[in-house]
Amino acid sequence: MNTHVFKCIFCSSKGPFNTEEHVIPESLGNDSLICKCICDTCQNYFGKEIENYVLSKTPFAFWKVWYGIKSKKGKFPSIDLSQPKKEKGRIPQTSAYHDQNIGFSYHEDNTISVDINDGNLINEIIEGRKSAFNFVISPKSIEQIGRFLGKMAIELIALNKYENAMTSKYDGIRIYARRGIFKSLWPIMNGKLKNRIDLYEKINEEFEESVIYKYKIFEYGDCTYFIFDIGMERWGINLTNQFPDPATIHIFDQDECINANWIWYHDREWRKETI
Ligand SMILES: [Zn+2]
Repeated sequence: MNTHVFKCIFCSSKGPFNTEEHVIPESLGNDSLICKCICDTCQNYFGKEIENYVLSKTPFAFWKVWYGIKSKKGKFPSIDLSQPKKEKGRIPQTSAYHDQNIGFSYHEDNTISVDINDGNLINEIIEGRKSAFNFVISPKSIEQIGRFLGKMAIELIALNKYENAMTSKYDGIRIYARRGIFKSLWPIMNGKLKNRIDLYEKINEEFEESVIYKYKIFEYGDCTYFIFDIGMERWGINLTNQFPDPATIHIFDQDECINANWIWYHDREWRKETI
């Protein structure tokens, strides 16, 4: 008898449900939050199309390296934050203001290196003409981080109560997370935490536990919000309104966070329109 009554929370298919979906990626230290109501196709899609990007090309990638969270195969993290040399796809991901050929690696002796693969840049630093790196959050990054936040939030809601995750108020973010942009970017929020999240415990050689994030889903007015704190950053999203009232930004600036801002681009700025 088939007792499988639930449907995938992203595509409504009836399965199969064989793969394990980590609500928060394993490479951020999560090994306990597993959602069982995501079909194999959606799970594969999110891993390949969203998490891969977010964990290699955005500030989330930086924190993964900062904390030195090893991969499943026991490798220390290393990233290269370069943007592609040429635009590909329909959402812009390159900026002339972005410093290329810079990465970060975590090493066995608990040090972190800044890896600069550009002789000119190294000279500029040595000669004192450059003292800071620029990493631009492109429209592509906003889209990917927004979809990543939306995905985690819907799964967290489902873990709490499956029926809640299926309600129509989450259809917008559900479709955005799973299918991407149709009309407009969904704004995301970024702020700075006053204190870095530093819960990293090494209990013994075999068992290691690390948590570098905190999260919260809450209601304010008639909207539902999701906050995800990692390293020294707070990220947030309005889950039920793609066009949030800018004045609601203050709800992210709570005790632990300052300088919260919405990040987004106007349609005209990211669309390659031919007029
Ligand atoms: Zn699915």
